[in-house]
Amino acid sequence: MCRVCQKRPEIPDEKSGRCEVCVKAGRMALRFRLAPGPGGVGLRVKAGEIAPRALRQKWLAPLQAYASQVAARPHLGLHEVEMIVAKDHLETVRVAPDLAAQGAAAVQALRDAAERTDASW
Ligand SMILES: [Zn+2]
Repeated sequence: MCRVCQKRPEIPDEKSGRCEVCVKAGRMALRFRLAPGPGGVGLRVKAGEIAPRALRQKWLAPLQAYASQVAARPHLGLHEVEMIVAKDHLETVRVAPDLAAQGAAAVQALRDAAERTDASW
């Protein structure tokens, strides 16, 4: 199943596991794993498919402007979140069912992560 739309079969050997429609649209899923924040307050990004510096360069401004709801999606594992992007546009943020009630904190964790200048998590 396509990692992005979760609707159509993926193209065999497509490196990001996407279907033809999502590849053509330049849509991608960027997945991150969250953990409790410092002192157990809020959430922080513990690992991600793109490095903090890359997240900062491309997605800091879109994350700061992101005002949509987050959607809880059952295909995500414990503490996972993903950004669905299309070319330069942040379409939506999805969270695992265990984070359903913490959507705002999950988006804040991504914003905080995008302010980091580290080369790796
Ligand atoms: Zn797709």
